[in-house]
Amino acid sequence: MPHYINVILPIPVENLFTYVITEAESGFIKPGMRVAVPFGKTKVYTAIVKLVHNTPPTIYEAKQIHQILDEFPIVTATQLRMWDWMSNYYLCTVGDVMRAALPNAFILESETLISKNTKQVIHDTDLKDDEFLIYEALHHQSSLRIQDIIDIVDKKQVFPIIKRLLEKGAIVVEEEVFEKYKPKLVKYVKLKENHATAEGLQALLDDLSRAPKQRDVVMSLFQLSAKTKKPIKVSELTESSGASSSIVKSLIDKSILDEYFIQTDRVEYQGNEVEASKTLNTEQEEALKQILTTYNTHQVTLLHGVTSSGKTEVYVKLIEDVLKTGKQVLYLLPEIALTTQLVNRLQNYFGDQVAVFHSKYSAHERVEVWNNVLINSPKAQVVLGARSSVFLPFTSLGLIIVDEEHEQSFKQFDPAPRYHARDTAVVLAHIHGAKTLLGSATPSLESYFNVQQGKYGLVEITKRFNNVLMPKIELVDIKDKQKRKLMKGHFSDRMINVMTETLEEGHQIILFQNRRGFSPIVECKTCGHAPQCPNCDVSLTFHNYRNQLRCHYCGYNMAMQLKCQACGDTALDTKGFGTEQIEEEVKLLFPNYKTGRMDLDTTRGKYGYEKIITAFEQQEMDILVGTQMLTKGLDFRNVALVGIMNADNLLNFPDFRAHERSYQLLSQVSGRAGRTQKQGQVLIQTYNPYHNILQQVSTNNYAAMYKEQMDDRYNFKYPPVYRLIRITLKHKDFNRVNMASQWLGKALRQIFGDNVLGPEDPPVSRIRNLFHKNILIKIPQKQSLGGTKKAIVKINNSFNSVKDFRSVRLVVNVDAY
Ligand code: ADP
Ligand code: ZN
Repeated sequence: MPHYINVILPIPVENLFTYVITEAESGFIKPGMRVAVPFGKTKVYTAIVKLVHNTPPTIYEAKQIHQILDEFPIVTATQLRMWDWMSNYYLCTVGDVMRAALPNAFILESETLISKNTKQVIHDTDLKDDEFLIYEALHHQSSLRIQDIIDIVDKKQVFPIIKRLLEKGAIVVEEEVFEKYKPKLVKYVKLKENHATAEGLQALLDDLSRAPKQRDVVMSLFQLSAKTKKPIKVSELTESSGASSSIVKSLIDKSILDEYFIQTDRVEYQGNEVEASKTLNTEQEEALKQILTTYNTHQVTLLHGVTSSGKTEVYVKLIEDVLKTGKQVLYLLPEIALTTQLVNRLQNYFGDQVAVFHSKYSAHERVEVWNNVLINSPKAQVVLGARSSVFLPFTSLGLIIVDEEHEQSFKQFDPAPRYHARDTAVVLAHIHGAKTLLGSATPSLESYFNVQQGKYGLVEITKRFNNVLMPKIELVDIKDKQKRKLMKGHFSDRMINVMTETLEEGHQIILFQNRRGFSPIVECKTCGHAPQCPNCDVSLTFHNYRNQLRCHYCGYNMAMQLKCQACGDTALDTKGFGTEQIEEEVKLLFPNYKTGRMDLDTTRGKYGYEKIITAFEQQEMDILVGTQMLTKGLDFRNVALVGIMNADNLLNFPDFRAHERSYQLLSQVSGRAGRTQKQGQVLIQTYNPYHNILQQVSTNNYAAMYKEQMDDRYNFKYPPVYRLIRITLKHKDFNRVNMASQWLGKALRQIFGDNVLGPEDPPVSRIRNLFHKNILIKIPQKQSLGGTKKAIVKINNSFNSVKDFRSVRLVVNVDAY
């Protein structure tokens, strides 16, 4: 009976592919193992086995695999289920998911290998010096990699040499799959067996009496091993004996010492002793009890606790409980909140049971975390990670915590799979029969909506830890200040006064200026009015090249206004102002204090962000000017004032979530103020002090915000009331993408009617020379999601069969918000 496997390839193809395997292989191969398979004429891919079976493919002849790459599955059955869910839900291929899920180092690559051409006789005199070196090396080694060749000739530019050798027929090139991941090996030494006994050692020391340095090394090694009973690193030995490594090497050469290697983990915890977790206060204790109670009836619970209420300590208790049952915990948080501050805090409690998974980690480190999670190693009981850690191979997950669950960065936009890590976490937990805890001081509307619908449990903490007061929030009307000429640059007299007081008291200040307003909106300098779309709850965006104001959601547009519609003034402003400008102004206003800036430009590099945080923590700066980066769960002790330079450009951002996001951002950044005894102060400068969102922020009234925003979402049919799928079409030819999007819009409208919006130009309608068009599909709650998606896939397939459209790229984004 013939045997076959279906495999997932790491490329965006619709179907799985079938390969034929031998009887012997069929006894060995299991789903979740990697195999190297030929694809097309010349390619070799790493594939993941999905199924082992006996049915030959009907439309093509199955090829044989090249080789089996694993001894046991590196992807679990649970993960394969997750991958299927993800590709179905987010409308992408399983190959897309595989690429995102596996650390790069697992996906073997074709790499050029060079070997000697045995069919041709080459005389050394025919070769130049460089060429001869390589040819010579191939006498000793059957094949060489590009990197080896670079090392041999000690030059970067080796392709010309290889080319010449090929032309002379001296070498051949082959493609071979190789493993990129190499575990880090540490060199250890021990005494050879025959010297390990007491008499053996004595004889050896006598032998070495005329080589005192070597003798010292042997003595040191003996003492070290007697003391620790652990393997001795070469580095430890040289350190303790004071001898150089060349002396150690000569002992190895003389067969007195043996060297050996042990694979060690790169991601090592080098902390101090672990400490006991904190005793919870009454509110925290109560919250913990309630969370456990909600878990009797719910899989998912939302912990809504004000900033600095001590949510993290509650998580710690939950984690302790789960670890006691022998299960794993995943602690998800936004990439940028994954700071050493939090990592240290958790390592203090859980020591080396904590593994961190991070995009800034090297390929090797990622593979090590993967393997440790897979074997349920004691070193990966609590995994602390950003978005992509939902892809790790958990075998017995007991709890997932999603901290700062409202954060937008949990959603991946490009490339596919365009998944939301919080929503994926809920599914992942469900597959494992685990619980999920979502935590936030400012929950997303969709999570709170799920609470209201009875899907999620809800637990609240309304007080800050230690009864620290919520910061006092004051709105500063800069329209009025301008009129009375009380502004210096972007600073009101009130802001300057409070800043001066704060600095004189020795406290620190955070100044917040968002830079999201890239696509310019128009704002009246006098009254602050920004033109709105009549159909949607968004501000219109200024499109320079057409001199138009447009809505990005429904396509409504009007000519650019010369006068403000509200007050008639002609002082219309289309530009925001950035952090740099604020920093400059602060330096002029407060020349005797140190000012720093934290935004994308100043936090490049692996530790850029960390450096600024540490400097500010250690009070090397008095004033920190920054963007939304400042909002992410940072705990600065000495900050007494948070100044928000301008709330209006947040509120007027052209997005149906602009108001919700403004509330979240302003509350979070305010929460950085006064985290210790002294009540913190927040000043919000705005043209619209009566804006409901600002009123809600200043009174910390989440409920009012929720209610008002939900009314809008009902009225305008936006999430979480309706679901949203966005299709983006891209092509370098404007007319083609135009035609294609009209066609697609029409086809979709035939099925979904008025719930299809567009095609519409996105704010940036041409990116890297591709023209973009967007189509939005709104899905009412009672409409089947599965059915809707099937219909979309079907329409997309007929779209792709139109010859003219084949070159148009279709990007489908489910829950595109
Ligand atoms: P949140 O995550 O809700 O913003 P944190 O967990 O960061 O709040 O807590 C705020 C501060 O209060 C932290 O410095 C934390 O160490 C401290 N804290 C919280 N709970 C306790 C506790 N039970 N005992 C001692 N300190 C606590
Ligand atoms: Zn509109």
